[in-house]
Order: sequence, then structure tokens, then C-alpha cells
Amino acid sequence: MALNIAHILQDDLIAPMVKKTAYGLATTCILGAAVYVGYRVAAPEKHRIRHHRHPELNDQIEKVMDSLKITDDQLVHIMHILEEEMTAGLSPATHKQATVKMFPTYVRNIPNGTEVGKVLALDLGGTNFRVLLIDLRGNDKVELTSKIFVIPQSIMIGDGKYLFRHLAECLYEFMLKENLIHTGLCYPLGFTFSFPCKQEGLASARLTGWTKGFSCAGVVNQDVVKLLQDAINEKGINAKCVALVNDTVGTLMACAYKDPSTAIGLILGTGTNACYIESLDKVGTWDGDYDEPKQVIINMEWGAFGDNDRLNLIRTKYDEEVDLSSINPGKQIFEKMISGMYMGEIVRLIILDLLQQELLFLGHRDTYGDYKTPLYDRGGFYTKFVSTVETDEGIKFSNTRRVLEDIGIRNPTYDDCAIVQHICRQVSKRAARLAGAGLAVLINRIGKSEVTVGVDGSLYRYHPRFKRNMERCMEALVHKDIKFQLTLSDDGSGKGAAMVACVADRSLMTASVFRDEETADYEKVI
Ligand code: ADP
Ligand code: MG
Repeated sequence: MALNIAHILQDDLIAPMVKKTAYGLATTCILGAAVYVGYRVAAPEKHRIRHHRHPELNDQIEKVMDSLKITDDQLVHIMHILEEEMTAGLSPATHKQATVKMFPTYVRNIPNGTEVGKVLALDLGGTNFRVLLIDLRGNDKVELTSKIFVIPQSIMIGDGKYLFRHLAECLYEFMLKENLIHTGLCYPLGFTFSFPCKQEGLASARLTGWTKGFSCAGVVNQDVVKLLQDAINEKGINAKCVALVNDTVGTLMACAYKDPSTAIGLILGTGTNACYIESLDKVGTWDGDYDEPKQVIINMEWGAFGDNDRLNLIRTKYDEEVDLSSINPGKQIFEKMISGMYMGEIVRLIILDLLQQELLFLGHRDTYGDYKTPLYDRGGFYTKFVSTVETDEGIKFSNTRRVLEDIGIRNPTYDDCAIVQHICRQVSKRAARLAGAGLAVLINRIGKSEVTVGVDGSLYRYHPRFKRNMERCMEALVHKDIKFQLTLSDDGSGKGAAMVACVADRSLMTASVFRDEETADYEKVI
């Protein structure tokens, strides 16, 4: 056991140290440190773990952990499968059955940093709903005011008309506070709607299916821009939705405002998805014009990768359980292995499994029966706990102890903490490697010598090693002659919607929107 725990810690403590110090002398010091860490790790165990631990128990734990490991070869195989699924999504003959839908977004241009104007944005992403006012000042400068509103659970699963009415009411409240009501102006609005949509134009998109816990009736197959605009008009609000923006596209656009080599947008939040700039000649489903630039941003909806069982070779029984108890079984299989909505739950199921096999929390048999603790509740182990646990370095485990107490395990042993941390690391590392492999497919396909990936979402933002784990695996998978970087696209889904409204189709904004009958009395703002 001692060796095993030492091994667990070595994996993450010592490897980065060795990498940082390339010189022989330093390496010697580090090896010395390794021995010391090994000793420190082993030492407390002798005292605390007592007799009920057997080496074979650790083999059993390692067996569970091994089921979560994905080798580089497996990742390369998954990359091939993803590429095939992308081709299926882009081809008119196979698009209908394809799992990775590869929706063209009608966004053809990226910003160049000179755009100016005041634009409103709504961001409905899954967890929160935000209303934003974005003031593009040119020269890469953006000023942003925003307010977060809660979407009550009853609205998330209620009738669609209440959802859109609620969005319009929040918009009205925000505009009132910002003195934007009765100004004589009609404000263009970008709607970041981060659910799978088949876009039919920049301001027209049909929801293909709800994800991330939403299931409002009467919205699937409807044009969500129309539903929103109807609700806005019903309240007499002086705003016009000119673009529907997927959060991945917003993220790409916001990042491109500052860095023109941006070609990919990635979300790692409640869900996961990616978009990238594709050449029109590869988009068989494209029904627009072939003018310059001969490219369009493709919203991949990659969360659905694996919905046809092609990822079964890497799925574990925990993934199956998460899927079966979700509101959309069989759907969003890739997402369920990666994103924030599911990661904590995977960890909880593994903890429960180890507990039931009597491999964990051995001193807590008396509390096993306490089914009221969050440990026994679906969703009781939040994904932010994964970040908290992984923030612990060394052997004190103060954060891990706090988290375990929160889920109902009082006075966990040193072993308990080390094992729970090990589980969190393996689950989040697997997620990072899968997302990294997906990005590697895109970067290799785009084929430019420099590619920046704009990334947004709380999982990426707050997890202490998600970025590092992604980069490490991508270094092995991306062609050696391509330079890539991952950039946090600060508030991409908010600012990006404004960029799209501003840039993506200027002709729409100037030609039709502000001459609309209902907005004829207003001046245009941009
Ligand atoms: P959305 O994807 O809904 O637009 P976010 O990007 O904020 O919103 O993602 C929210 C999700 O991120 C939460 O559902 C949660 O799973 C995850 N999350 C929140 N805080 C953290 C954290 N500290 N570490 C890891 N994941 C987190
Ligand atoms: Mg979001």
C-alpha cells in the first residue's frame, strides 16, 4: 500500500519537477526529493493505515483506475473515428444519421479588432442566464456591463413560452437599469444559445434537441430566434435579435478580436462543444453563396460524438451509469465523459463503488447506512469539488478533507484522501485528454502553421490542471510543425455574441433590421 500511494503521488508531484529542471545536478536533487517524498508518504501510512489494508486491495483500486486510462494509441484511434464522424456530418448524404452534426453557422468572417458600437447580448448557456451590454470601442477595446439571472428549475423543464417570456423580462429589467429603454434607439442583440441548433440563416435556427438539463416543451424544431423576438415584441422592448450565436462561436470570435490566428472555439463548462473555421469546399451541406471568404465556422456539436456506440471501447460502467440516470440516455456520450455537468458524478460513482467493495472509508462502516449524506445523492459530489481536491499538493489534504466532510465523511484517513484525490485526477485527466485529442484533429485539419484555440467555461477556467493535461496530450498528437496555443477567451459567450452581431453579417444589420416595420421608429445604433 505504501508503495502504491507513493506511486500515486509521484505521478503528479515528481514528473513536473523533473521536467522543469533539465540539468543533471538538479535532477539529482529532485531524485533526492523523490526519495524524501516517498518516505514522507510512506511514513504516516504506517501509523494511520493499520492492519485492515492489504496489498491486493490496492490492486483492486488500481484496476478501477486502469479502466479510466486511455493510452496515446487509443487517442489516435479515437481521432480517426472523430474525423470519420466529421466527414459524415458535413456530407449531405450522411448528415441526417450523423452523430457529430457539424452545423454551418453562417458566420464567415472573424473580427479584426476595429469594430465599434453598442450591442446587447443574451447568454443562455446551461447554468446561468446573463444579459450583457457590450460597447466595442475599436483597437481591441471592449467595455462590458452584465447581470446574471437565475433560470428556475420549473422554467427549465416547463413550457417553452415561459422560458422566452422570462428571458425577455430579464432583458427589460437590465435595459431599464442601464437606461436603454425609451431612448429612441433600437439595439441589435446577439443571442448566445448554447444548445444544438440547425441554423437556417444568421438569425434563424431550429433547436434540434435540448441538452444540459433543459427540456422545455414546444421548442424543439422551432425557430428559437423567432420565439425570443416574439417575447421581446410582446413586452415592447426596443431590441432586435440579429444573430443567433453558439457559445463556441462567440468564444472563437471574442478571442479573434485580440488574436487573428484564432481558428477554434472550445467550451468546457456545463457541457462541451467546439467550432472551427472550415473551407467551404469541405462543407457539402453548405447552402449559402460561395463568395469570399470561402470559409464558414462549423459548430461541431461534438458532445454527441459516440452516440452511435463508437466510443464504447473506452467507456466504463460509471459512464454507463451516468448516462442511464441522465435525462437524455444514449445522447451526448462524449460530453458525459468530459464536461462539468457529469465529472463530479463520475467521481461520486467510483467512490461509492470502492466503498461498497470495502476499499475506501474503512473506518466509516458505521456511517454507511446514512443514506442522507450527499455521497449517496445523485449530483452530490459537485465538479467544483474535483478542482478543490486537486488543488491539494503534498500530504496534508486540507481541501480534500473539507470536501469529504461536506459529502458526509468525517475524519477521513490519509489513505482515504489520497485515493479520492487519485480518482479525481484520473477522471479529470481522462476528460482533458479526450478534449485534447478532439482539438488535435481540428488543428491538424486546419493545417495552418499557427493556431490559437479560444477556450471558455468554468471547468477549464477553474480546474487547476485541465489546461496542462490537455496541452501535454496535444503535444504528442498535433503535427510537429504546427504551433498551437490555448487562450482563455474571457467571457467569450457574452462578448462573442456582440462580435457576431457586429461583424458576421453587416449587410443584414444595415439593410434589413433597422428598416423593419416594428423598429422603423428607432435609429440604428451601430
Ligand atoms: P455554462 O457552461 O452553463 O455556460 P459555466 O461555463 O460557468 O457555465 O460552467 C458551469 C459548470 O462548470 C458547472 O456546471 C460546473 O459543473 C462546472 N464548474 C463550476 N465551477 C467549477 C470549478 N471550480 N471547477 C471545475 N468545474 C467547475
Ligand atoms: Mg457558458
